[in-house]
Amino acid sequence: MIAIIGNGLSGLSFAQLCQYKGWPYEIIAPTQPGSNSKKLLLNHQSLTLLKEICPDVTPDHIYDSLTINIKNKPCEINFSASDYDLPGIAYAVSYNRLSELFSKKITYTQAHVHRLDYSQQRPVLNMSNASKKYQHVIACDGARSTIRSQLGIKQNKGASGVSIIIPAHINSKTLHIQFSQKVTGAILPGENGQIILSGTSALRQFTPTLQELKQFFPEYIDLVSIGTPIYISYQRAITHSNYAHNCLLLGESALSIPPIAAQGFNHTLAQINHLAELDILTPESIRKKSTYLAQMNQQLWQEMAIISNHPFLRNQFLNLAQHSQFLTRQLFIFGNRYA
Ligand SMILES: Cc1cc2nc3c(=O)[nH]c(=O)nc-3n(C[C@H](O)[C@H](O)[C@H](O)COP(=O)(O)OP(=O)(O)OC[C@H]3O[C@@H](n4cnc5c(N)ncnc54)[C@H](O)[C@@H]3O)c2cc1C
Repeated sequence: MIAIIGNGLSGLSFAQLCQYKGWPYEIIAPTQPGSNSKKLLLNHQSLTLLKEICPDVTPDHIYDSLTINIKNKPCEINFSASDYDLPGIAYAVSYNRLSELFSKKITYTQAHVHRLDYSQQRPVLNMSNASKKYQHVIACDGARSTIRSQLGIKQNKGASGVSIIIPAHINSKTLHIQFSQKVTGAILPGENGQIILSGTSALRQFTPTLQELKQFFPEYIDLVSIGTPIYISYQRAITHSNYAHNCLLLGESALSIPPIAAQGFNHTLAQINHLAELDILTPESIRKKSTYLAQMNQQLWQEMAIISNHPFLRNQFLNLAQHSQFLTRQLFIFGNRYA
Protein backbone atom coordinates (compact mmCIF):
# COMPACT_ATOMS: atom_id res chain seq x y z
CA MET A 1 0.00 0.00 0.00
CA ILE A 2 1.26 3.46 -0.96
CA ALA A 3 0.49 6.49 1.21
CA ILE A 4 0.27 9.72 -0.77
CA ILE A 5 0.53 12.71 1.52
CA GLY A 6 -1.02 15.89 0.19
CA ASN A 7 -3.75 16.49 -2.35
CA GLY A 8 -2.27 19.28 -4.44
CA LEU A 9 -1.68 18.54 -8.10
CA SER A 10 1.42 16.43 -7.36
CA GLY A 11 -0.44 14.14 -4.97
CA LEU A 12 -3.46 13.90 -7.25
CA SER A 13 -1.36 13.19 -10.35
CA PHE A 14 0.60 10.52 -8.56
CA ALA A 15 -2.70 8.98 -7.41
CA GLN A 16 -3.79 9.07 -11.03
CA LEU A 17 -0.66 7.18 -11.99
CA CYS A 18 -1.32 4.61 -9.25
CA GLN A 19 -4.81 4.16 -10.59
CA TYR A 20 -3.47 3.70 -14.11
CA LYS A 21 -0.83 1.21 -12.95
CA GLY A 22 -3.09 -0.62 -10.53
CA TRP A 23 -0.88 0.24 -7.54
CA PRO A 24 -2.91 0.39 -4.31
CA TYR A 25 -2.82 3.79 -2.59
CA GLU A 26 -4.36 5.95 0.06
CA ILE A 27 -4.40 9.73 0.04
CA ILE A 28 -3.67 11.37 3.34
CA ALA A 29 -4.66 15.02 3.29
CA PRO A 30 -6.42 17.50 5.52
CA THR A 31 -9.21 18.56 3.19
CA GLN A 32 -10.72 17.94 -0.20
CA PRO A 33 -8.58 19.53 -2.93
CA GLY A 34 -8.62 23.30 -2.67
CA SER A 35 -9.84 25.68 -5.32
CA ASN A 36 -7.33 27.74 -7.25
CA SER A 37 -8.04 30.02 -10.17
CA LYS A 38 -4.55 29.90 -11.63
CA LYS A 39 -3.67 28.66 -15.07
CA LEU A 40 -0.68 26.41 -15.54
CA LEU A 41 1.51 26.47 -18.59
CA LEU A 42 2.46 22.97 -19.55
CA ASN A 43 4.95 21.72 -22.06
CA HIS A 44 4.27 19.09 -24.67
CA GLN A 45 5.77 16.22 -22.69
CA SER A 46 3.67 17.07 -19.66
CA LEU A 47 0.46 17.24 -21.64
CA THR A 48 1.21 13.92 -23.33
CA LEU A 49 1.76 12.22 -19.98
CA LEU A 50 -1.36 13.79 -18.48
CA LYS A 51 -3.46 12.63 -21.40
CA GLU A 52 -2.16 9.13 -20.99
CA ILE A 53 -3.01 8.85 -17.33
CA CYS A 54 -6.17 10.94 -17.59
CA PRO A 55 -7.52 11.08 -21.18
CA ASP A 56 -10.11 13.77 -20.36
CA VAL A 57 -7.45 16.44 -19.83
CA THR A 58 -7.73 19.14 -22.47
CA PRO A 59 -5.89 22.45 -22.57
CA ASP A 60 -7.92 25.67 -22.29
CA HIS A 61 -5.60 27.26 -24.74
CA ILE A 62 -2.81 26.17 -27.07
CA TYR A 63 -0.11 28.71 -27.84
CA ASP A 64 1.49 28.11 -31.17
CA SER A 65 4.07 30.80 -30.81
CA LEU A 66 6.18 32.33 -28.10
CA THR A 67 8.20 35.51 -27.91
CA ILE A 68 10.94 36.04 -25.37
CA ASN A 69 12.29 39.52 -24.85
CA ILE A 70 15.13 40.76 -22.75
CA LYS A 71 14.40 44.34 -21.93
CA ASN A 72 17.15 46.83 -22.70
CA LYS A 73 19.04 44.21 -24.69
CA PRO A 74 18.78 43.83 -28.43
CA CYS A 75 17.28 40.43 -28.06
CA GLU A 76 13.98 39.03 -29.18
CA ILE A 77 13.61 35.32 -29.71
CA ASN A 78 10.59 33.89 -31.47
CA PHE A 79 9.53 30.29 -31.37
CA SER A 80 6.86 28.71 -33.44
CA ALA A 81 5.39 25.27 -32.82
CA SER A 82 5.70 24.43 -36.51
CA ASP A 83 9.50 24.79 -36.26
CA TYR A 84 9.48 21.88 -33.86
CA ASP A 85 6.78 19.90 -35.57
CA LEU A 86 4.53 20.18 -32.56
CA PRO A 87 0.85 21.10 -32.39
CA GLY A 88 1.60 23.74 -29.75
CA ILE A 89 4.49 25.35 -27.99
CA ALA A 90 2.76 25.69 -24.63
CA TYR A 91 -0.60 24.62 -23.23
CA ALA A 92 -2.62 26.50 -20.65
CA VAL A 93 -4.50 24.18 -18.31
CA SER A 94 -6.74 25.34 -15.51
CA TYR A 95 -5.65 24.19 -12.03
CA ASN A 96 -9.26 23.76 -10.91
CA ARG A 97 -10.23 21.75 -13.94
CA LEU A 98 -7.26 19.39 -13.50
CA SER A 99 -7.90 18.97 -9.82
CA GLU A 100 -11.58 18.25 -10.53
CA LEU A 101 -10.77 15.68 -13.22
CA PHE A 102 -8.21 13.91 -11.08
CA SER A 103 -10.45 13.85 -8.05
CA LYS A 104 -13.24 12.28 -10.06
CA LYS A 105 -11.05 9.59 -11.59
CA ILE A 106 -9.13 8.55 -8.51
CA THR A 107 -12.18 7.65 -6.44
CA TYR A 108 -11.06 10.21 -3.91
CA THR A 109 -13.42 9.26 -1.13
CA GLN A 110 -13.52 10.15 2.51
CA ALA A 111 -12.60 6.54 3.19
CA HIS A 112 -9.20 7.20 1.68
CA VAL A 113 -8.62 10.41 3.53
CA HIS A 114 -7.16 10.51 6.98
CA ARG A 115 -8.48 13.69 8.54
CA LEU A 116 -5.72 15.57 10.25
CA ASP A 117 -5.40 18.65 12.31
CA TYR A 118 -3.47 20.54 9.70
CA SER A 119 -4.09 23.95 11.26
CA GLN A 120 -2.07 22.95 14.31
CA GLN A 121 0.67 21.61 12.09
CA ARG A 122 0.57 18.22 13.71
CA PRO A 123 2.81 15.70 12.01
CA VAL A 124 0.90 13.82 9.37
CA LEU A 125 2.34 10.45 10.09
CA ASN A 126 4.74 9.08 12.55
CA MET A 127 7.25 7.96 9.97
CA SER A 128 8.41 4.88 11.83
CA ASN A 129 4.80 3.67 12.27
CA ALA A 130 3.99 4.72 8.73
CA SER A 131 6.69 2.61 7.22
CA LYS A 132 5.17 -0.38 8.99
CA LYS A 133 1.69 0.30 7.67
CA TYR A 134 2.64 1.59 4.23
CA GLN A 135 5.22 0.00 2.02
CA HIS A 136 5.89 3.40 0.43
CA VAL A 137 5.18 6.96 1.39
CA ILE A 138 5.07 9.58 -1.36
CA ALA A 139 5.31 13.04 0.19
CA CYS A 140 3.46 15.59 -1.93
CA ASP A 141 2.87 18.10 0.85
CA GLY A 142 4.16 21.16 -0.93
CA ALA A 143 7.03 23.60 -0.59
CA ARG A 144 6.75 23.80 3.20
CA SER A 145 6.72 20.02 3.55
CA THR A 146 6.47 18.71 7.11
CA ILE A 147 7.42 15.24 5.93
CA ARG A 148 10.68 16.61 4.61
CA SER A 149 11.57 18.05 8.01
CA GLN A 150 10.36 14.93 9.81
CA LEU A 151 12.71 12.92 7.69
CA GLY A 152 15.52 15.35 8.39
CA ILE A 153 16.15 15.87 4.70
CA LYS A 154 18.40 18.85 4.27
CA GLN A 155 17.14 21.77 2.33
CA ASN A 156 19.02 24.41 0.46
CA LYS A 157 17.45 27.84 0.96
CA GLY A 158 17.58 30.21 -1.95
CA ALA A 159 16.48 33.81 -2.31
CA SER A 160 12.96 34.76 -1.35
CA GLY A 161 10.72 36.47 -3.85
CA VAL A 162 7.24 37.57 -4.76
CA SER A 163 5.00 36.81 -7.69
CA ILE A 164 2.11 39.01 -8.68
CA ILE A 165 -0.73 37.47 -10.64
CA ILE A 166 -2.93 39.93 -12.45
CA PRO A 167 -6.13 38.84 -14.17
CA ALA A 168 -6.28 40.60 -17.52
CA HIS A 169 -8.05 40.88 -20.84
CA ILE A 170 -5.34 40.68 -23.49
CA ASN A 171 -5.89 40.74 -27.26
CA SER A 172 -3.06 38.57 -28.40
CA LYS A 173 -2.53 35.02 -29.51
CA THR A 174 1.10 34.70 -28.54
CA LEU A 175 2.62 33.84 -25.21
CA HIS A 176 5.17 36.46 -24.15
CA ILE A 177 7.97 36.25 -21.65
CA GLN A 178 9.89 39.37 -20.76
CA PHE A 179 13.01 39.85 -18.66
CA SER A 180 14.38 42.97 -17.12
CA GLN A 181 17.11 43.31 -14.53
CA LYS A 182 14.58 43.17 -11.70
CA VAL A 183 11.45 41.53 -12.96
CA THR A 184 10.51 38.54 -15.05
CA GLY A 185 7.07 38.68 -16.59
CA ALA A 186 4.83 36.34 -18.50
CA ILE A 187 1.71 37.23 -20.35
CA LEU A 188 -0.97 34.62 -20.95
CA PRO A 189 -3.32 36.09 -23.56
CA GLY A 190 -7.08 35.80 -23.73
CA GLU A 191 -10.22 37.40 -22.43
CA ASN A 192 -9.51 35.67 -19.12
CA GLY A 193 -5.77 36.02 -19.51
CA GLN A 194 -3.18 36.50 -16.82
CA ILE A 195 -0.01 38.48 -16.31
CA ILE A 196 2.51 37.03 -13.90
CA LEU A 197 5.38 39.16 -12.62
CA SER A 198 8.12 37.71 -10.42
CA GLY A 199 11.04 39.35 -8.70
CA THR A 200 12.61 40.04 -5.35
CA SER A 201 10.56 40.80 -2.24
CA ALA A 202 10.70 44.50 -3.14
CA LEU A 203 7.99 43.72 -5.68
CA ARG A 204 5.54 43.43 -2.82
CA GLN A 205 5.38 47.24 -2.70
CA PHE A 206 4.40 47.43 -6.36
CA THR A 207 0.79 47.77 -7.49
CA PRO A 208 1.03 47.76 -11.26
CA THR A 209 -1.18 49.99 -13.37
CA LEU A 210 -2.32 49.23 -16.89
CA GLN A 211 0.07 51.89 -18.17
CA GLU A 212 3.08 50.45 -16.34
CA LEU A 213 2.31 46.99 -17.60
CA LYS A 214 2.05 48.27 -21.15
CA GLN A 215 5.47 49.82 -20.75
CA PHE A 216 6.98 46.70 -19.26
CA PHE A 217 5.74 44.50 -22.05
CA PRO A 218 6.38 45.31 -25.67
CA GLU A 219 3.97 47.84 -27.07
CA TYR A 220 2.37 45.47 -29.49
CA ILE A 221 0.72 43.53 -26.70
CA ASP A 222 -2.82 44.74 -26.55
CA LEU A 223 -3.78 44.93 -22.91
CA VAL A 224 -7.44 45.84 -22.67
CA SER A 225 -8.01 45.81 -18.92
CA ILE A 226 -6.57 44.40 -15.73
CA GLY A 227 -8.10 43.15 -12.48
CA THR A 228 -6.97 43.09 -8.86
CA PRO A 229 -3.49 41.64 -8.37
CA ILE A 230 -2.81 38.70 -6.06
CA TYR A 231 0.58 38.55 -4.29
CA ILE A 232 2.32 35.23 -3.62
CA SER A 233 5.54 34.97 -1.60
CA TYR A 234 7.92 32.15 -2.19
CA GLN A 235 11.25 30.87 -1.03
CA ARG A 236 13.31 29.06 -3.57
CA ALA A 237 14.44 25.82 -2.04
CA ILE A 238 15.67 22.44 -3.03
CA THR A 239 16.31 19.26 -1.12
CA HIS A 240 19.62 17.45 -1.28
CA SER A 241 17.94 14.13 -1.54
CA ASN A 242 14.50 12.88 -2.46
CA TYR A 243 14.40 9.72 -0.47
CA ALA A 244 14.62 8.44 3.10
CA HIS A 245 12.92 5.64 5.07
CA ASN A 246 10.83 4.39 2.15
CA CYS A 247 9.58 7.91 1.59
CA LEU A 248 9.95 9.78 -1.69
CA LEU A 249 9.50 13.54 -1.95
CA LEU A 250 7.57 14.53 -5.05
CA GLY A 251 6.67 17.90 -6.55
CA GLU A 252 7.09 21.11 -4.60
CA SER A 253 8.12 19.23 -1.46
CA ALA A 254 11.36 18.36 -3.25
CA LEU A 255 11.65 21.59 -5.11
CA SER A 256 10.15 25.01 -4.67
CA ILE A 257 10.61 27.35 -7.58
CA PRO A 258 9.01 30.62 -8.62
CA PRO A 259 5.93 30.13 -10.77
CA ILE A 260 7.09 32.51 -13.43
CA ALA A 261 9.47 29.93 -14.73
CA ALA A 262 6.39 27.80 -15.41
CA GLN A 263 8.30 24.77 -14.30
CA GLY A 264 6.83 23.57 -11.00
CA PHE A 265 4.17 21.21 -12.26
CA ASN A 266 6.09 20.41 -15.43
CA HIS A 267 8.87 19.24 -13.19
CA THR A 268 6.52 17.13 -11.05
CA LEU A 269 5.22 15.47 -14.20
CA ALA A 270 8.76 14.79 -15.38
CA GLN A 271 9.35 13.03 -12.05
CA ILE A 272 6.12 11.07 -12.44
CA ASN A 273 7.13 10.12 -15.96
CA HIS A 274 10.25 8.45 -14.57
CA LEU A 275 8.30 6.66 -11.88
CA ALA A 276 5.86 5.46 -14.53
CA GLU A 277 8.69 3.45 -16.05
CA LEU A 278 8.52 1.13 -13.05
CA ASP A 279 6.23 -1.86 -13.39
CA ILE A 280 6.07 -2.52 -9.71
CA LEU A 281 7.13 -0.34 -6.84
CA THR A 282 9.68 -1.83 -4.53
CA PRO A 283 11.74 0.16 -2.03
CA GLU A 284 14.77 -0.80 -4.12
CA SER A 285 13.34 0.38 -7.46
CA ILE A 286 12.09 3.67 -6.01
CA ARG A 287 15.40 4.33 -4.29
CA LYS A 288 17.23 3.83 -7.58
CA LYS A 289 14.92 6.24 -9.38
CA SER A 290 15.14 8.75 -6.54
CA THR A 291 18.88 9.17 -7.06
CA TYR A 292 18.19 10.13 -10.63
CA LEU A 293 15.34 12.46 -9.61
CA ALA A 294 17.57 14.21 -7.08
CA GLN A 295 20.13 14.88 -9.82
CA MET A 296 17.39 16.22 -12.02
CA ASN A 297 16.38 18.58 -9.19
CA GLN A 298 19.91 19.82 -8.71
CA GLN A 299 20.26 20.63 -12.36
CA LEU A 300 16.94 22.37 -12.48
CA TRP A 301 17.93 24.40 -9.45
CA GLN A 302 21.10 25.50 -11.16
CA GLU A 303 19.06 26.68 -14.08
CA MET A 304 16.60 28.44 -11.82
CA ALA A 305 19.49 30.16 -10.06
CA ILE A 306 20.46 31.46 -13.44
CA ILE A 307 17.26 33.41 -13.74
CA SER A 308 17.28 34.43 -10.10
CA ASN A 309 18.88 37.58 -8.84
CA HIS A 310 22.37 36.14 -8.61
CA PRO A 311 24.23 38.73 -10.72
CA PHE A 312 26.95 36.51 -12.12
CA LEU A 313 24.68 33.65 -13.11
CA ARG A 314 22.06 36.00 -14.30
CA ASN A 315 24.44 37.70 -16.69
CA GLN A 316 25.54 34.36 -17.94
CA PHE A 317 21.95 33.48 -18.62
CA LEU A 318 21.38 36.69 -20.51
CA ASN A 319 24.39 35.93 -22.69
CA LEU A 320 23.28 32.41 -23.22
CA ALA A 321 19.77 33.50 -24.03
CA GLN A 322 21.14 35.82 -26.66
CA HIS A 323 23.25 33.17 -28.24
CA SER A 324 21.37 30.02 -27.67
CA GLN A 325 17.78 29.61 -28.65
CA PHE A 326 18.10 26.01 -27.66
CA LEU A 327 18.70 26.67 -23.99
CA THR A 328 15.88 29.15 -23.69
CA ARG A 329 13.49 26.91 -25.49
CA GLN A 330 14.32 24.04 -23.19
CA LEU A 331 14.10 26.08 -20.05
CA PHE A 332 10.78 27.69 -20.60
CA ILE A 333 8.85 25.49 -22.83
CA PHE A 334 10.03 21.97 -22.73
CA GLY A 335 11.43 22.19 -19.25
CA ASN A 336 12.75 18.78 -18.66
CA ARG A 337 15.72 18.23 -20.91
CA TYR A 338 17.10 15.57 -18.62
CA ALA A 339 14.45 13.01 -19.40
C1 LIG B 1 0.98 31.50 -9.33
C2 LIG B 1 1.53 30.21 -9.71
C3 LIG B 1 1.65 29.89 -11.06
C4 LIG B 1 2.20 28.69 -11.43
N1 LIG B 1 2.33 28.43 -12.75
C5 LIG B 1 2.86 27.26 -13.15
C6 LIG B 1 2.97 26.98 -14.54
O1 LIG B 1 2.61 27.80 -15.38
N2 LIG B 1 3.48 25.77 -14.90
C7 LIG B 1 3.93 24.86 -13.99
O2 LIG B 1 4.41 23.77 -14.38
N3 LIG B 1 3.84 25.11 -12.66
C8 LIG B 1 3.32 26.28 -12.22
N4 LIG B 1 3.20 26.55 -10.87
C9 LIG B 1 3.61 25.52 -9.89
C10 LIG B 1 2.46 24.49 -9.67
O3 LIG B 1 1.30 25.16 -9.28
C11 LIG B 1 2.84 23.47 -8.60
O4 LIG B 1 4.11 22.94 -8.92
C12 LIG B 1 1.82 22.34 -8.59
O5 LIG B 1 0.58 22.86 -8.19
C13 LIG B 1 2.21 21.16 -7.72
O6 LIG B 1 2.26 21.51 -6.38
P1 LIG B 1 2.32 20.40 -5.24
O7 LIG B 1 1.15 19.49 -5.33
O8 LIG B 1 3.67 19.77 -5.24
O9 LIG B 1 2.24 21.30 -3.93
P2 LIG B 1 0.98 22.12 -3.41
O10 LIG B 1 0.14 22.60 -4.52
O11 LIG B 1 1.52 23.11 -2.44
O12 LIG B 1 0.12 21.03 -2.63
C14 LIG B 1 0.50 20.53 -1.40
C15 LIG B 1 -0.75 19.88 -0.78
O13 LIG B 1 -0.36 19.21 0.42
C16 LIG B 1 -1.28 19.52 1.45
N5 LIG B 1 -0.51 19.46 2.71
C17 LIG B 1 0.38 20.36 3.16
N6 LIG B 1 0.88 19.95 4.33
C18 LIG B 1 0.30 18.77 4.60
C19 LIG B 1 0.43 17.86 5.67
N7 LIG B 1 1.23 18.11 6.69
N8 LIG B 1 -0.29 16.72 5.61
C20 LIG B 1 -1.10 16.45 4.55
N9 LIG B 1 -1.26 17.29 3.54
C21 LIG B 1 -0.56 18.43 3.56
C22 LIG B 1 -1.80 20.90 1.15
O14 LIG B 1 -3.09 21.08 1.71
C23 LIG B 1 -1.81 20.88 -0.38
O15 LIG B 1 -3.07 20.43 -0.85
C24 LIG B 1 2.65 27.75 -10.46
C25 LIG B 1 2.53 28.07 -9.10
C26 LIG B 1 1.99 29.28 -8.73
C27 LIG B 1 1.88 29.63 -7.26
